[in-house]
Parts: sequence; C-alpha cells; structure tokens
Amino acid sequence: MTAAEWHLPDGELRRYGEGTLVPPELWSTEAHLAACAYCRERLAAAAEPQMTAAGWVRLDAELDAPVPGPVERLLVRAGVAEHTARLLAATPVLRLSWLVAVASTLALAALLANLADPVVFLAVAPLLPVGGVALSFGHRVDPTYEITVVAPIHTFRLLLLRCVAVLSTTTVLSAAATLALPDLGLTALGWFLPALALTLLTLAFMARLGPVLAAVLVGLGWVVLVTSTLGAGSGGSSPFVPVGQLALALAGALGALVLARMHRAFETPRRFR
Ligand SMILES: [Zn+2]
Repeated sequence: MTAAEWHLPDGELRRYGEGTLVPPELWSTEAHLAACAYCRERLAAAAEPQMTAAGWVRLDAELDAPVPGPVERLLVRAGVAEHTARLLAATPVLRLSWLVAVASTLALAALLANLADPVVFLAVAPLLPVGGVALSFGHRVDPTYEITVVAPIHTFRLLLLRCVAVLSTTTVLSAAATLALPDLGLTALGWFLPALALTLLTLAFMARLGPVLAAVLVGLGWVVLVTSTLGAGSGGSSPFVPVGQLALALAGALGALVLARMHRAFETPRRFR
C-alpha cells in the first residue's frame, strides 16, 4: 500500500497532541492515526506525559463515572451497540440541561405563536438543532473531545452519530410542541424541512468555519430570511409556503452533497494536501 509511505508531518502531530488542530486536517490526521501504528507511536512519544495522563483522567471521569446512565441503557435496549451508546450518551445534546433548554424554548415559542404570530414557532424550531450542532462540536464544551486526544477514532462516523442525536431529540420535542398549535394544520410542521436544511448547511460549513461560527452564520441567515419575508405568504412568511419549502429542501440536499464529498475526502486522507 503506497499510502503507508506517507506519514504525518511533525507540526501536524504536535498540534493534534495539543488539541489545536481543526477540521478537515483534524479528520485526515485522525484517519491516518487510526491506520498507522508508526504515527501513533510518534504521537505518544511527542505528547507531554502529564498531558496524556490528564487526558486519560478526564476521559475516565467523563465516560466511567456515571455507570450506564438512563439514556445509555435505553439506547442499548433499543439495539444500539454498547460503545456507540456510550459515545452518544456522553454527547452534550443528550444531557438533561440541554433537553430542558430545548423544551422550554419550544414552550415559549408556542406560547408566543398562539398569542402573537405563528411564525415565531416556525422560525425558532429550526434554530434548535443548529444550536445543538454548535454545542456538540465545539471543543470547549465537549467531554468526548478528550477521546480524540487519547484514542483516535473515526470522527466522521461520530459526526453523523451526533448529528442524528441532535436532530432526533429536537425533532421529537418540536413535534410534541406542534400539538400546541392545532389551528395551523399542516403549516404547523413548516419547521421540519428548515430544521433539516439548516443542520445540514451548518455541518457543511463546519469544516471551513468551525462549529460555532458556522452555526451563528447559518442561524443569522435564517433569521434574516424569515424577517425579510414576513407577511409574504400564508403562515406569515414565505419559507413556509410550498415554494419556500422546496427551496429549503434543495438547500438541504446541497449541504448533504457537500457532506458526502467531505466524507470521500476523509476516506482518502491524502486528498487534503
Ligand atoms: Zn504514519
């Protein structure tokens, strides 16, 4: 295999050890580390022993302290593999504080939708998974980030797993909140396609901009779109009429396409340089 001839540059390896490497270099580096024992040894030798030890301590505390929590047990019972369940359960979006924040935001939005304009709910619900993505992939708030310090894993798979965790929790909660808007009929589900599209676009931009900036820009773009088209259609705003929904579906498909291309690049790490 000719790819084995190539090894990670010292600088990249050092930045990986320090935790300062960002996607897509982070992903290609991890893909190489997962496949190359020689570079793993170099990483272990280059890393400060205290840093590695501290990483293990933090990881141990994060992963082992709450011996299978309710979320993890539920996932395992639902047929999710044990190590996947543990990774998912350690994801910030499955924490109670996040779920409470999402639920109370939706309750407030549904209340405002009933009191003032239904568009409030339709505009706020798609922002929740975008916030979840920023929360899940921002290094500073991510406990599983430690895993990447001590044990390189297939990050693209983790990215998709977390994306599913984010979208499924916000979708279930938003669907439940939709029941508070019985007068709107099908229009009340107008948040679903925007949520999917905004999440995919955030993920697509993440490789270039980082999770937080990508989420902020996509969120701002959405707010500008909704406010600039207020009063343009039924449901108050044109993203929620059929043509707008179709455009959002296309934008989401574009984001998915970019993600798929990133995945191919990730599978063949040498494309990056
Ligand atoms: Zn190597």
